Amino acid sequence: MMHLPTNLFVFLWILPCCLAGEESVQVEEELISQFEEQGEISTLEQLKAKIGPIKEPPRLRHYNYSHLTSHIFHLNTKFPNLTHVYSIGQSVEGRQLWVLVVSKHAAKHHKLIPEFKYVGNMHGNEAVGRSLLVALAWSLLHSYNSNLWIRRLVDTTRIHILFSMNPDGYEKSREGDHSSVIGRYNANEKDLNRNFPSRFPNYFPSGELQPETMAVMNWSRQVSFVLSANLHGGTTLVNYPFDDYPTRGRDSRYSPTPDNELFVRLAYSYARAHTRMWKKGPRCINDDLNMVIDPQHGIINGADWYIVPGGMQDWNYLATNCFEITIEINCYKYPYEKDLPFLWNENKYALLHFIDQTHNAVHGFVVDSETGEGIPNATVSIDNKAKIIVTDAHGEYWRLINQGEYELTVDANHYQPVTKRIHVHSTNRSPHVDIYLHRLSTTPTPRPRSRVDSPREFIVARSFSSTTSPVSSAQDLNSVNVICSFLISILISRIFS
Ligand SMILES: [Zn+2]
Repeated sequence: MMHLPTNLFVFLWILPCCLAGEESVQVEEELISQFEEQGEISTLEQLKAKIGPIKEPPRLRHYNYSHLTSHIFHLNTKFPNLTHVYSIGQSVEGRQLWVLVVSKHAAKHHKLIPEFKYVGNMHGNEAVGRSLLVALAWSLLHSYNSNLWIRRLVDTTRIHILFSMNPDGYEKSREGDHSSVIGRYNANEKDLNRNFPSRFPNYFPSGELQPETMAVMNWSRQVSFVLSANLHGGTTLVNYPFDDYPTRGRDSRYSPTPDNELFVRLAYSYARAHTRMWKKGPRCINDDLNMVIDPQHGIINGADWYIVPGGMQDWNYLATNCFEITIEINCYKYPYEKDLPFLWNENKYALLHFIDQTHNAVHGFVVDSETGEGIPNATVSIDNKAKIIVTDAHGEYWRLINQGEYELTVDANHYQPVTKRIHVHSTNRSPHVDIYLHRLSTTPTPRPRSRVDSPREFIVARSFSSTTSPVSSAQDLNSVNVICSFLISILISRIFS
């Protein structure tokens, strides 16, 4: 009898979470069936046949900061026409945050070549992403002349690889650590995946931005990334935004974005291309690393797993053109080197296939119909909902998209907006759609662009300072699932409390 109130309390506590979990599983199942019918999902076997054999690194290993730096510059020296190295800033302890670009157009943005990024080692002791990204760069470059699929990918994409977002934490972490937090944080003991501006700043105030966080934010504003993945360790699954939810006192809530269908496809594309991530668990061979919640298909909405305010993928979604997911790439956080070949084999085709998702996008230029000049800062939206993309300095845009029929609306200051119907289907998966806008006759001559007018500043300022941001407004109108989930949870709490 003494246990009844406790059990009842636990039941009431987890009930909303379980309901939310069931809802998300049902949504994911329906979407995955739909994508499979459309031929959108490739199995690992199909990808192996399509991509073909790739060159494998002779030795997979862990690289400390100085070895990693030498290796990056070695690749750059060996492949000067396919690589470009730059630093996006420094860590707290002064280590460079090196990025290697792999592309036929490595040095700078080339028109109609989309930008992609991988970010590894944000948590310093989650070392596998960092090592696998080194292997990935090696394979892309050494397979370029022998593998046509990889050559096409490198010719048509700018692939930016930030091997380590937290080099200070990595130096503190130790090989053989399976689940500790030693080295997880940066040198100021801050968790970088809780340090980005929060979606609900009053509810979840962000702490002081860390140098590593600011470096990634500036980088993400300067390069118009289309797609991104953030590689972590601790289990094997993909999670997708939103990571947060405006409530305290619950461990998890289903919190989909208005682009949920797109995120489910992106997440499942990675999981299905992995040797086993897409299967129901156990997710980890080692029992004590297995999760209580085992996602049915290896993918899960971030907040439905557990709520994370100030995460990087939410910030990417709200403040940049980029869609980002988070990949928990392996269970053991810092495994011994001998295990790396196995982990590389589990992930290598998924890592390649995910980069290729960048090309499932409607894209083109927004152009002044009289002058033929590209229009910067024009907004591009789909069915007047979800994420709004902003054109770059040349009027170029890339907007990831699923198959279907959409209304593409383009708007720019001093121009007549245009809405165009587009049909995205399996034989036209990456439609090139240029949009011509007519200048309104009564408008003054536009001022020269200033830093304050840059598209990223505009979106960031509006997304995080008021409820009138384009993204927030769209969410208000379209996040029916979120609102329903919230109301149901309140109702249940009221009934049982
Ligand atoms: Zn992590």
